[in-house]
Amino acid sequence: MRCPFCEHYDTKVVDSRPTEEGRAIRRRRYCEECGKRFTTYEKVEENIIMVVKKDGSRESFDRGKILNGILKACEKRPVDYATIDTMVNEIERGVNNMMEKEVDSAFIGQLIMDQLKEVDQVAYVRFASVYRQFTDVNTFVKEIEKLINQK
Ligand SMILES: [Zn+2]
Repeated sequence: MRCPFCEHYDTKVVDSRPTEEGRAIRRRRYCEECGKRFTTYEKVEENIIMVVKKDGSRESFDRGKILNGILKACEKRPVDYATIDTMVNEIERGVNNMMEKEVDSAFIGQLIMDQLKEVDQVAYVRFASVYRQFTDVNTFVKEIEKLINQK
């Protein structure tokens, strides 16, 4: 940690104690160059990602919800739990990689569909039909045709 007074690079920690009920560490530092003391705080970065839903309301990103959605789509399908867990991890990573405080629920829905498409096409169609709320048979058929054409 650089000294804020003389910009010297090497400072010594003379005291270190937890504050804010253990959520932060307060460090007293001493600059050997200019002899001044200063304080630094070390905190866990609060990385709460908000999901913006279609109606504009927000809720915090919930890994459990993603897991439930995928579990439901994969019901009675030959997809083991480890694969589902990997999918959820990939989706979580995709959301974190956005480096945004707010992420559209549509983006998360797309990540889920991308994962399912790779793993199990029946699960994918199931999820997509609920997620995209296919209102008529035609859009549903189109989605399936797309899948077939990709093969
Ligand atoms: Zn200094």
